[in-house]
Amino acid sequence: MGNALGRSRALFCRALARIPGGVNSPVRAWRAVGREPLFIDRGAGPYVFDVDGNRLIDYVGSYGPAILGHAHPAVVAAVAEQASRGFGYGAPCEGEVNLAEELSRAIAPAEKVRLMSSGTEAAMTAVRLARAATGRSKILKFDGCYHGHSDGLLVRAGSGGMTFGVPDSAGVPQQLAAHTLVAPYNRLDVVEQCLSANRGEVAAVIVEPLAANMGVVRPRAGFLAGLSALAHSFGALLICDEVITGFRLRYGAVSEVYGAAPDLILLGKIIGGGLPIGAVGGRAELMELLAPCGPVYQAGTLSGNPVCVRAGLATLAALKRPGVYERLEALGAQLESGLSQALAETRTTGCVNRAGSLLTLFLGVSQVADAEAARGADALKFSRFFSAMIEAGVYLPPSQYEALFVSLAHSEADLAHTIEAASRALRVAAGG
Ligand SMILES: *Cc1c(COP(=O)(O)O)cnc(C)c1O
Repeated sequence: MGNALGRSRALFCRALARIPGGVNSPVRAWRAVGREPLFIDRGAGPYVFDVDGNRLIDYVGSYGPAILGHAHPAVVAAVAEQASRGFGYGAPCEGEVNLAEELSRAIAPAEKVRLMSSGTEAAMTAVRLARAATGRSKILKFDGCYHGHSDGLLVRAGSGGMTFGVPDSAGVPQQLAAHTLVAPYNRLDVVEQCLSANRGEVAAVIVEPLAANMGVVRPRAGFLAGLSALAHSFGALLICDEVITGFRLRYGAVSEVYGAAPDLILLGKIIGGGLPIGAVGGRAELMELLAPCGPVYQAGTLSGNPVCVRAGLATLAALKRPGVYERLEALGAQLESGLSQALAETRTTGCVNRAGSLLTLFLGVSQVADAEAARGADALKFSRFFSAMIEAGVYLPPSQYEALFVSLAHSEADLAHTIEAASRALRVAAGG
């Protein structure tokens, strides 16, 4: 990274005066890596350019939506075409129907789909639906899984999975958090104990079928099939949160590949092509509990926004071309093997967890299968690694606990540069 950071610094100063922490979403402040954030001016393909003119290879990918790379011409054209006819009308439009049909075709359990403006709303709506459908109040989530920032879902484990949830955020009433049970990811035995101790009270089990918000953590063989069976045997619904995984690992959802039988599926990120979106899909009779058919209220001024749905449709059309997911798998595999080799060469303790184009390099731990193991990672070393990568022109997510997102725009040469940089950055990080 050649240029000084004068403009980023000046903008951050102004931002701090008027925006809490200078950012509109906390991780963007780079506090976990002890630096000030870069302000981004534009993105093109696999790169972002900061306001000081530095070009960086981007693995944040807008936290998932940018699977085609930035400013893909087909998506830009679709957005421009729709924008010229207005941004939204507060009335139904054809694009919403096209997107709902496409999602339903790709994801069998999503017989009907309701579109909204964020993944947070999707998770919130699904929980409300599950409570209405079952007449129960509690939900069971997993430590380290993220389902947006609605009150009842901002809860992770205390020390044990069986304990009542402790609010993760100030401002969440204890009585509300008490409706959220937390179990460790990949632990069916704890799930069973938990459901059994709360028999007849749990409305839904909500899970990321492949966890990507504690860093990437794959489900153990049989975990999701077992979870489905357990949830259903206790009369609870299974909500699979595929806001990250949907259309990221294959064209559609991954839950079915892992043997899960979700009652509700949550989508977001990729299906909006980079513009704000969220969606809940499920069996028709369940989805028809939503207003105006049923008694569960849910609404949104910008829900099913015509520009967002066009961006989503254009993105899905590009993802439907043959070979796309094979290409993403090959790129992910190249990055995984390169980073693993860099760990070995530099004698660094660490591990690479990967699924397709989602990947996390954990430092300081040799295996991660749940949040507790992830918390054992060396965050300080990661922050030194992160900084050295920025200096080398590689933009990683600014936290040990986020996934790297590889896009279709990344080339083998971009990845080779990244791996070389990582090898050097690991040596710097070891230096302390
Ligand atoms: C990003 C994310 C959400 C929240 O989506 P927003 O659009 O940020 O509200 C929910 N669940 C998962 C798994 C996510 O990765």
